[in-house]
Amino acid sequence: MTELLTADVVVVGGGSAGCVLAARLSADPARTVLLIEAGPAPATWPPALLDPHTLPIGAGSEWAHHYSVALTGQRAGVIARGRVLGGSGAVNGAYFMRGLPADFARWGSDLWTYDAVLPYFRALESDHDFADEYHGGVGPMPVRRQTTEQLTRISAEFADAAVRSGFADVADKNNPVSDGVGPVPLNVDDRGRVNTALAYLGERRTNLRILDRTTAHRLLFAHGAAIGVEVERDGTLATIGADRIVLSAGAIETPALLLRSGVGDPLASRSLGIPVVHELTGVGARFWDHPEVNLPYVDAAQEAVKVPILQVVLNVDDIEIRPYTAPFGVGVTHMRPEARGTVRLRSADPQIPPVVSYNYLATARDRNTMRKAVDVAGALLAVDIDSTDEWLVDHLGTSQHTAGTCRMGPASEGESVVDDRCRVHGLDGLSIVDASIIPSPISRGIHATVVMLAERAVEFLG
Ligand SMILES: Cc1cc2nc3c(=O)[nH]c(=O)nc-3n(C[C@H](O)[C@H](O)[C@H](O)COP(=O)(O)OP(=O)(O)OC[C@H]3O[C@@H](n4cnc5c(N)ncnc54)[C@H](O)[C@@H]3O)c2cc1C
Repeated sequence: MTELLTADVVVVGGGSAGCVLAARLSADPARTVLLIEAGPAPATWPPALLDPHTLPIGAGSEWAHHYSVALTGQRAGVIARGRVLGGSGAVNGAYFMRGLPADFARWGSDLWTYDAVLPYFRALESDHDFADEYHGGVGPMPVRRQTTEQLTRISAEFADAAVRSGFADVADKNNPVSDGVGPVPLNVDDRGRVNTALAYLGERRTNLRILDRTTAHRLLFAHGAAIGVEVERDGTLATIGADRIVLSAGAIETPALLLRSGVGDPLASRSLGIPVVHELTGVGARFWDHPEVNLPYVDAAQEAVKVPILQVVLNVDDIEIRPYTAPFGVGVTHMRPEARGTVRLRSADPQIPPVVSYNYLATARDRNTMRKAVDVAGALLAVDIDSTDEWLVDHLGTSQHTAGTCRMGPASEGESVVDDRCRVHGLDGLSIVDASIIPSPISRGIHATVVMLAERAVEFLG
């Protein structure tokens, strides 16, 4: 196998987090950075990736990768992940809401309290609507909300019904106090949906190389340190050498890459014939996501309107209700579930996707919260739903906010994978910076938190 390239830092995965890292790390001209991305790097951004009214993730999409998953023991599903520079952020709903102070308090580290991360939330954004101590005005990601005049009928009627029912009317959902109904902060500007490749990677730099259509198969180690990556490019295998490797392949592929490389549960590695490099049983264990049930809502006029798919949202304690403008219906989600899922390999072959099991609605508390959420949504929509356990499973989907497959936490905590500086426990030269490391449920969608995570982590990767 030939050695293709070497760099000071290799970032594996040019998604929401990876593009931020590549841009910020290469701002130091003395550091060489190589970004490896499995999907294409579009020379010009096609309309499908910019249009915030649609998610370009349907079967056959050239920008997304699909996985068959088990949402529960009885209910199967299919999830998508972006496979293009910009990652899942290039194909997502453009909802860009921050986690809450209480979410970050649960990370259990002084490096990740709300006060510690606020400067990074401010640095990443240019908020078009608010300029106060919580907001930034010069960062790469645009944030803007729909005006009352731009709201479609369902968005406006939903917001009115929520306010009439006594929920707070919240103008700024990125304020730390944001329960109630209000316009969704969107990473959208005149260009459309702005992903982190578009926002951060505009400037050409001689010390930053982007290898697109290049897939990492496994990591290479020597004497307890990561020293390189085996990649496939144009059907040929090659190795890339690095002083530091940062995994940003997302919450499914980052654990899969580690497991294929012999970092995980030794019993599982041996059963697939993978040589064990390092025992870390937390890899792929105990991930979380936001289960979502959909209440059908049909409004033919709605479908023709080209607006972002979500304009307003209601948050009440642990639940979020999303009146989509596209014909998905009204999404009803549990934002802080107890249930935890697993990502496991079925083969050492990188072409064979991992087994992803969500284990949704596994606890009585999760089912009861979901029922309460359906009741709140039903009352607002003036429909009566008997949300038995069977009904919940039959209507179950996912928000596609998978996270925590390689949790952050102290090494003494059995199932943590990285420390609070994003370094993989027990292996030198290897870090993870993507949704995989978010240790516990975030009460909002996670895209803004992932971008912040990457901004914050730069300091730890020098
Ligand atoms: C359909 C959809 C809609 C969503 N909507 C929203 C929303 O509206 N708001 C919100 O807050 N969140 C949303 N999310 C979640 C959010 O977009 C993701 O959590 C976030 O983008 C994850 O960022 P990441 O950097 O961890 O991974 P990703 O952005 O997924 O990046 C991973 C990158 O790594 C690449 N990669 C993977 N494996 C390899 C490999 N072996 N070698 C090289 N490259 C590799 C992939 O191609 C990809 O580009 C949505 C997600 C999806 C899928």
